[in-house]
Amino acid sequence: MAANTEELKRILGEAADLRAAGAVLRWDQETYMPPGGAGGRAMALSTVSRLAHETFVSDRVGELLETAQAELGGEDPDSDEVRLVKISKRLFDKERKVPGDYVAEFSRVTSLAQQAWQKAKGESNFPHFRPHLERVIELRRQYAEFFAPYDSVYDPLLDDFEPGMKAAQVKTIFTDLRKQQVALVQAIADKGNVIDDRLLYQRFPEDKQLAFGMEIAQRFGFDLNRGRQDLSAHPFTTEFGSGDVRITTCLNPEFLPNGMFGTFHETGHALYGQGIPERYDRTPLAGNLSLAFHESQSRTWENLVGLSRPFWKAFYSRLQSTFPEQLGRVDLETFYRAVNKVTPSLIRTEADEATYNLHVMLRFELELAFLEGSLVAADLPEAWNRRMEEYLGIAPPNDEKGVLQDIHWSLGYIGYFPTYCLGNLVSAQLWEAALEAMPDLAQQIERGEFGGLLAWQRENIHRHGGKFEPMELIVRATGKPLSAEPYLRYLRGKYGEIYGL
Ligand code: ZN
Repeated sequence: MAANTEELKRILGEAADLRAAGAVLRWDQETYMPPGGAGGRAMALSTVSRLAHETFVSDRVGELLETAQAELGGEDPDSDEVRLVKISKRLFDKERKVPGDYVAEFSRVTSLAQQAWQKAKGESNFPHFRPHLERVIELRRQYAEFFAPYDSVYDPLLDDFEPGMKAAQVKTIFTDLRKQQVALVQAIADKGNVIDDRLLYQRFPEDKQLAFGMEIAQRFGFDLNRGRQDLSAHPFTTEFGSGDVRITTCLNPEFLPNGMFGTFHETGHALYGQGIPERYDRTPLAGNLSLAFHESQSRTWENLVGLSRPFWKAFYSRLQSTFPEQLGRVDLETFYRAVNKVTPSLIRTEADEATYNLHVMLRFELELAFLEGSLVAADLPEAWNRRMEEYLGIAPPNDEKGVLQDIHWSLGYIGYFPTYCLGNLVSAQLWEAALEAMPDLAQQIERGEFGGLLAWQRENIHRHGGKFEPMELIVRATGKPLSAEPYLRYLRGKYGEIYGL
């Protein structure tokens, strides 16, 4: 390897080390830090983030990337080296375009906006949050300008979460999907076949919930030599390299699904993290992952596996013996139907599989209109409620349960929401490809065997790390471009059977 590439890798490694240090600080902040640590931690985090940024966008890295590109000219375009340089150059060019002053201002404004959002949400008082949101949107428009010319002002923002993806693609996919999902939810409602899920609302001791969740996580393949689980207010997964991937969970002692499916979900993210090749550690090939792909892995284990009948055929008796008083007299079919109940609800994070995407589409449409200037902040609550009525047939009684429910906009995460929906679509498309490769997948799951599925994911997704753009990776893994059809087929098949459509 040329001396220049060696030097480049060394600096990229140092930038990655600083990012990993920041991630440990953030993980600790959400899990064990006492409240008094908040001020000092914010300073420590800001210093580490600045050092990571400065290390990465230095002039020397720019020079080394130029030389490396020239040196690697004739190599295989898919080799690790060529991809490493290509992706690093792309990230470098992007980060270099954003002035330090902007980064500081954005960090300051979103920190205030987040506090204002919390207060506004608590009081269900949108006007309190409104000026902050306006400033965030203004800054996001300014951010997009650093990358002009663009097709849509949304594109540069989306690209931060979904490398290479454009707003126009999302729009095309969502427009068609929305009509069909609305029709499905309507058909289920028309059937008038209401599922009784009261059995899920009982007292489920937290220690037993934790033990059951961890038992399943390990059965899925979560390696505790290279990971761990802790408690936090909002569940998340974080990784400091492929050898240390951590999940957190949040339990509700009065409602079983939250903690249980939350653990399955985060385990899916963690299996991805543990599956990134060790040789990519400390390089942008271990990061730069598409959020849609990350979410597709979590959704696979949470929904396609965890909410399936074969899975519960294998593990329901285990769950019953964990909670004999609560579930001992509930049969498998009643339990299966309860956890798969479809009902339009106000809160995205509590939505079932059939309605979830509609919550995401609504947010995408509003943030796009907002950025483009066709919607002003004052009209946002009304626009939100109108769409809820149109897509789900229900309207929020107040803004806390409506436009103020998500933290994302206050953090400046505009362009993030579509990745949730895309993740669902990707999960179903990958699932069909996995089924084609393993026609007995359902039987494997019914036997409590997950090695086949994990090996398929490792081979087709995990081992590539951040080497390919998401739309390129889906074609490599499934032979086809991203489509909503597999997800619709999945929903219609599963809920058609449950609701007798
Ligand atoms: Zn997730």
